[in-house]
Amino acid sequence: MLAAALISFALTQAPSLKEARALADDVYAGRSAVAWSKSSSSLRASVASEAGLRGLINSTRSSLGTEVRVITEAMVERNGGTLYRRVSAVTNWARGMELELAFDVKGALVAMTTRPASKDAPTISALHKTRADLRLPFDGAWFVLWGGRKYDDNRHTPVPDMRYAMDVFIVKGPGTYQRGGAKNDDYYAWSQPVLAPADGVVVEVVKDTPDNVPNQPRPGVLYGNSVVIDHGTGEYSLLGHLQFGSVSVKPGQQVVAGQQVARCGNSGMSTEPHLHYQLMDAADWTKAHGLPAQFKGFLANGRHVERGEPMRAQVISHADVEARR
Ligand SMILES: [Zn+2]
Repeated sequence: MLAAALISFALTQAPSLKEARALADDVYAGRSAVAWSKSSSSLRASVASEAGLRGLINSTRSSLGTEVRVITEAMVERNGGTLYRRVSAVTNWARGMELELAFDVKGALVAMTTRPASKDAPTISALHKTRADLRLPFDGAWFVLWGGRKYDDNRHTPVPDMRYAMDVFIVKGPGTYQRGGAKNDDYYAWSQPVLAPADGVVVEVVKDTPDNVPNQPRPGVLYGNSVVIDHGTGEYSLLGHLQFGSVSVKPGQQVVAGQQVARCGNSGMSTEPHLHYQLMDAADWTKAHGLPAQFKGFLANGRHVERGEPMRAQVISHADVEARR
């Protein structure tokens, strides 16, 4: 009888997944009432009042931005208390972010923290063989800063649509820019033509995002100016951070591989001019899942690749098949 009572007592202490989830929803919505009612005495002491807690919630919320999608969530027992961890794609970070709510042994809220997500998003597409005849979406030699299938090589992997994305820059000598690097024009990648990687139909265009000043990314429009191309194979290419005023295609327009669609820019969550590329299983990146993109006929660090996925730290360039004959 006593044992049963103790067990039921213990079970009622931890918040349910549903309760923890609702509190995280409140954080993203800027609501403080329930969080205040569930706050521990230590949290109450540190924020002084419900208005103080609302201030904490709002600063957390403005750092994360709008939640685009929940990637994973988990309840973890820690030191008798409970942690609720939710990894989400958010508008203010070009990568996944984790919101953690900590509850004490009595189930009261003691802390909320955020950190960049660092686990590869679950994927069912690891064995996917790219069906579209992809070529690299640029000419010339570009440096892969983030590319590959693991987080250590590719900071995109925690977010489902970015699961296999790559970021490419142009590097000459020691860096990506000349002069001081204070202006977009200083960067070698700036204004370089961005090409359709394969035949298809343009299905999404964003073109009204101003370019950022270098190192001042603009929260809110993740990919900035972007073009999505439907290749007719169940595969969609997204080209992001394009230069304001450079997008030269519109929805419904047919494009062919190698055709210029825009110029490289610095719009959206971007710190300097570069190209973000990803292949997806749907046109809407807020719902799509990333697909591995195997490109045909390119050079990686000077070696010819018949078909393959660019990797972090490679210098890659399109191999003109005609020129090689
Ligand atoms: Zn990127």
